[in-house]
Amino acid sequence: MDYVGNVIRPPSEAKSMIIQVTVGCSHNQCTFCGTYKGQKFYLKDIAQVKKDIVEMSGYGIPFEKAFLADGDVLILPTETILDIMSFIFKMCPTVKRIGVYGNTKAILKKSPRELKELRDAGLGILYQGIETGNRELLKKIKKGAFPHKQVETAQKIIEAGILLSQTVLLGIGGTEMSEIHAIDTGKLLGEMSPDYASALTVMLLPNTELYRDYKEGKFQLPDKFGMLQELKLIVENMDVHRPCFFASNHASNYLPIRAKFPEEKDKIVSLINSVIEKKNTGVLRPEFMRAL
Ligand code: SF4
Repeated sequence: MDYVGNVIRPPSEAKSMIIQVTVGCSHNQCTFCGTYKGQKFYLKDIAQVKKDIVEMSGYGIPFEKAFLADGDVLILPTETILDIMSFIFKMCPTVKRIGVYGNTKAILKKSPRELKELRDAGLGILYQGIETGNRELLKKIKKGAFPHKQVETAQKIIEAGILLSQTVLLGIGGTEMSEIHAIDTGKLLGEMSPDYASALTVMLLPNTELYRDYKEGKFQLPDKFGMLQELKLIVENMDVHRPCFFASNHASNYLPIRAKFPEEKDKIVSLINSVIEKKNTGVLRPEFMRAL
């Protein structure tokens, strides 16, 4: 396989066929993200992409899902994505669903017709990093997106019939913006009501702007109970209008939870509250086991 640089995929795509279509991320400016630092974004040679698909199909693994990496494949012209997807289905008939990452800019560039075309051709799920629902903080972390645009993109994806999976980041507002970040994030998730929502916890990576700020004393991470407080505020403020599966079981988090919204919301708030009140570190993931 012709994998170039860091090839990342969502945890739920661990058993998928991973086909690298682009290298890097078309945005590549988020202050907390070191994944593609120094990596220029480009579309790989389509002939090479197809060669990789042929190679994968030759392994005899009955993949049910495929994921198109890297950071932001949706930014490519729709025709290019359709061509790659149809080749995957042709070469790998066991594949039932294809997934991609898509940032706000990429989704806004697609018309509803193009998104439906992609859905009809087998694009089953789109993963999007939201990080926070606070406008000021989105600007500060250089996410290149604002809450009202995130709501618009969520509606477009849901209306196209593509599953939407979004992630938010505990700790990204630091101690300074911790509370407002969590409240606004919960509200935004409720307004968007994605099919899946997950919380990850910020880990400071040495090649990032956020790490530099931390080293210079301009940014401080909340402690583990501060992170739990954020988790609680997000859940409390998340009033969904359609079913959503919420999880914080990513390896970066201290407290893994999985819950169906809206029915299990109150149960989860009580659980987080009881861990905070009892300062129960026994149920938290130890620091050395946390990872991205
Ligand atoms: S967080 Fe996502 S959008 Fe931001 S730079 Fe990293 S890969 Fe790109």
